[in-house]
Amino acid sequence: MSKNVSIIGSGFASLAASCYLAKAGYEVRIFEKNSQVGGRARQFHKDGFTFDMGPSWYWMPDVFERFFADFGKTPSDYYELEKLNPAYKVFFGNDQSITIEDDLQKIYAAFEKEESGSSKKLEKFISQAQSNYSIAIKDLVYRPGVSPLELVTPETIKKIGQFFSTISRDVRKEFQNQKLIQILEFPVLFLGAKPSDTPSFYSFMNYADFGLGTWHPKGGMYKVIEGMEKLAVSLGVKIKTSATVEKINVEEKKVSSLIIDGEKFLTDLVVCGSDYHHSETLLDAEWRQYSETYWEKKTFAPSSLLFYVGFDKKLKNIHHHNLFFDVDFDAHSREIYDDPQWPKEPLFYANFTSVTDPGTAPENCENGFFLIPIAPGLEDTPELREKYFDLILKRFEKLTNQEVKKNVKFQKSYCVNDFIKDYNSYKGNAYGMANTLLQTAFLRPKLKSSKVGGLFFTGQLTVPGPGVPPSLISGKLVSGLIQNKKI
Ligand SMILES: Cc1cc2nc3c(=O)[nH]c(=O)nc-3n(C[C@H](O)[C@H](O)[C@H](O)COP(=O)(O)OP(=O)(O)OC[C@H]3O[C@@H](n4cnc5c(N)ncnc54)[C@H](O)[C@@H]3O)c2cc1C
Repeated sequence: MSKNVSIIGSGFASLAASCYLAKAGYEVRIFEKNSQVGGRARQFHKDGFTFDMGPSWYWMPDVFERFFADFGKTPSDYYELEKLNPAYKVFFGNDQSITIEDDLQKIYAAFEKEESGSSKKLEKFISQAQSNYSIAIKDLVYRPGVSPLELVTPETIKKIGQFFSTISRDVRKEFQNQKLIQILEFPVLFLGAKPSDTPSFYSFMNYADFGLGTWHPKGGMYKVIEGMEKLAVSLGVKIKTSATVEKINVEEKKVSSLIIDGEKFLTDLVVCGSDYHHSETLLDAEWRQYSETYWEKKTFAPSSLLFYVGFDKKLKNIHHHNLFFDVDFDAHSREIYDDPQWPKEPLFYANFTSVTDPGTAPENCENGFFLIPIAPGLEDTPELREKYFDLILKRFEKLTNQEVKKNVKFQKSYCVNDFIKDYNSYKGNAYGMANTLLQTAFLRPKLKSSKVGGLFFTGQLTVPGPGVPPSLISGKLVSGLIQNKKI
């Protein structure tokens, strides 16, 4: 008889794990507390507008291809992908912006225009970043973080110095122009830590950005979730939504059952795709591996204040992805990581998928997604949300040279309290535990419980880390450990 596996949550990591395990012959069930699958990547519709609630940057298309190829499929079997050109625009002040296009030569030219001699330096930097990408994303991240030796390969030994310098230091050594520095430091923000705390080796994110480009699945990121859900169901996975797991029961040091909305459900194996910290609280204290002090000491990725906005007109001077770096980057970073508080002058990010994907807003309208990164665990009140909405909209109007406030048809905000309520997120973090030198690979919370047999973890708080591509990989890694096979 095949073993049954219960997976808690239906984010990217859980869906990926479910596909691999079902393919390997396990009887797989997913239990998701929310009414929709997808976790942080859920989507909502209002008055003809479509909003992805979380991820919007589709980077590292090769990771998605590799996932679907494991099932004899391609992304195009499930969704239509477009490479965005331009990839994004960065605003630095009134009439000061840099647009990043979809081709390395054009990006080198844009750099040269800002700082003479920088294109050659960028070429060298990207070549290094590309080599790191082949080592990290094609190989290292597919190792389960069981032993430090996983990181020791002939290639990494040659690059050892890059683990002891930082992106910030490297970039500043080569480039003087503040705008170019900020553009090169931006990609590692996806890893959840400050560029000054992120090892140089992670410059593979710069290759993902400039070398591989920014893509958009038509209809939004949720199309990827729908594709994975379809694949999982076709492989025999049973998905139950509006099903909250309240307890993981252990007998004779092995998982025995789950309590789901008050009902006992017997299971041989459990994979927790819910936030690691929360998942451990579903166990009696003696079975938890990590203490509250452990979590308290970790560097978490930021939380976010988000606004989903329906505009009743088309907006000017914007692209699909827009970064507003017109204030002090370092001051805002300090307010996230060193001295947690609401930022005095926040950087923010805005996307308007309707610019390139008209189906995501009614005719002559624009859907806006605004994101301010903030420290996890901050006080979250309606007044604060309102204050920041006014603040960024004013800046947005000034920098894009148009009035938009009076064209807001509706606005929905999302912040720390929602992350906690909807996802049981630790301190309301938006995208998990950061990837710093001391929180990489075998130094992250483990995929397999050391205390309870048959209990596993997956997702952005474990290996390899935050982001959609790492979550897909995490699902593959945990399924490999369950089957006790090298992947
Ligand atoms: C605002 C935002 C922007 C982002 N932008 C990007 C981006 O542009 N590009 C990118 O690559 N990544 C981005 N990310 C990160 C990316 O979305 C995440 O890393 C990824 O979606 C995490 O997937 P996961 O499977 O680990 O967890 P989740 O998606 O959080 O899934 C966990 C699931 O577990 C469920 N759950 C929790 N507790 C229980 C319980 N007791 N019982 C049952 N179910 C439970 C939750 O409801 C949830 O559905 C962003 C994230 C956010 C929030």
